[in-house]
Amino acid sequence: MQNENGDKPPPPPPPSSPEEFQKKLEEMMKQHFPGFTTVNVQPPGFTQTPPDPTSPTEEPDSGLDPTDFDFDHKPRDVKAHLDRYVIKQDEAKKVLSVALCDHYNHVRLALEGTEQPNYTKQNVILLGPTGVGKTYLIRSVAELIGVPFVKADATKFSETGYVGSDVEDMVRELVRRADGDVERAEYGIIYIDEIDKLASATNQTGGRDVSGRGVQTNLLKLMEETEVPARSPNDIAGQMAEMMQNAQGGGPRGNTINTKHILFVVSGAFDGLDKLIRKRLREGSIGFKAAGQDTGPNEQVFEEAQTRDFIDFGFEPEFIGRLPVRVVCNSLNTEDLFHILKHSEGSIIRQYEEDFSCYGVKVHFEESGLRGIAERAADEKTGARGLMTVCERTFRDFKFELPSTVVQRFVVDDALVGDPKMALAGLLKEHEKEERVVLYQAVHEFAERFSEAHGVLVKFTEEAADKLVAEALDQKLNVPELCEVKFKDYQFGLNLIAKNSGKTEFEIGVENVERPDKVLSEWVVKSYREGEAAGGDSNEGGAATDS
Ligand code: ADP
Repeated sequence: MQNENGDKPPPPPPPSSPEEFQKKLEEMMKQHFPGFTTVNVQPPGFTQTPPDPTSPTEEPDSGLDPTDFDFDHKPRDVKAHLDRYVIKQDEAKKVLSVALCDHYNHVRLALEGTEQPNYTKQNVILLGPTGVGKTYLIRSVAELIGVPFVKADATKFSETGYVGSDVEDMVRELVRRADGDVERAEYGIIYIDEIDKLASATNQTGGRDVSGRGVQTNLLKLMEETEVPARSPNDIAGQMAEMMQNAQGGGPRGNTINTKHILFVVSGAFDGLDKLIRKRLREGSIGFKAAGQDTGPNEQVFEEAQTRDFIDFGFEPEFIGRLPVRVVCNSLNTEDLFHILKHSEGSIIRQYEEDFSCYGVKVHFEESGLRGIAERAADEKTGARGLMTVCERTFRDFKFELPSTVVQRFVVDDALVGDPKMALAGLLKEHEKEERVVLYQAVHEFAERFSEAHGVLVKFTEEAADKLVAEALDQKLNVPELCEVKFKDYQFGLNLIAKNSGKTEFEIGVENVERPDKVLSEWVVKSYREGEAAGGDSNEGGAATDS
């Protein structure tokens, strides 16, 4: 590079070590690309799903020590754990529990040095529509076993062009999830959604075929056994540092991650696969179990899926052959969604209860409310994800308004779910009513305090109390303050009247509230007259003394 004069600037002194070089390079990158960090470099195409807010715990904290990996779960325990969170999907939970136990028992044996030869890894293929708990199942099970878990989306791999690198990024991400512990990452779970989009059959959209097949090949390598470099080819700083290290003849290449024991779970909706299965069943192949099977709902037909169907769908035989465990997740109906809300430990309503309780608001969900939410969620046709959509829509305004009011509790029933805006308006109105009641009480308490303190009995008429409450609300004053100001001379005046006329009980009406001083002086004048009429003797100039 030349400067304006055409002179070459003097080269900076060479870094003396790869570490120093990497540091310099990182500094430069940070300077030119704000937000750059080596750790967070996410190469294009890699998707990291945010942690599931309803998941039992967010990050699996495995504490797994590969030297004594003590896996002692039984399929029934695993299923029992899944039952707490995942509603329905019983068959999937069973099959998955068995596959997981087999896999991790094998890992344990391998670590103990008694690995079964010819063991087939229990990689799983999950079939089912969106939002029915596929990810939730795998995430929950990873948390139970305490292994790192990564989810990625297969469609991203085919779109980037960095195909080979991308699939390997998942493995590196596992290491990150294992807090940099490579050995723990080597027993993690990688979950790839939308795998059906990699199929290259004619039912797939054009342009995908080549890269889809390429990704399958790359995934196949991972699923078998390969060493993945700990540094991504897209981690420029890391790569340069490594090159430096090599150029200087320094040490071996950076760490690698072995994928032999990583469990792979792939999933997809597999639209169109049902047709292939039905066709095969109709043609009378083996597997045609019962009459009418080929006309049942998709999930029933999916149960019949064979390797051949996946190949016809567009998968490479070797690829599908590496996914021996097949699990079907069923779609969820209104009743299932209701059960998820009511019984799942990860139910979204727990989240709402917590959100409101942060503002001191207690929310109580009635069955009719839960049903209302479930019914509307079912209309969304996005499985349990619909629950989140409906809840967000329903409680949006409540979350905005209630924290600033004195509402401390509300009930979610069908009426509220049916018309949240009206329910909120009603709640706020009710709250206004509540506030009025409190203010009325304050008016009468003022009268009581006044009576006790000054030896005369004072009572407000209902109209007078109404007027005071209205004024307090209008002027945003509290009632005692308002009364103190209005009736500041009443202590003296009423006592004077008592002295003049012997009268000790006073009813304060609207007129007193509207013109307190004028009415008081009229009362005083009148009391003189009454005193005189009664044979008045000692009242002249007599000031009431009472306090
Ligand atoms: P997908 O099948 O698309 O992977 P997810 O597992 O991501 O769907 O489901 C989204 C969310 O919906 C989950 O995090 C969970 O809160 C809820 N959910 C989905 N299915 C179920 C289920 N069967 N039981 C309980 N909750 C579920």
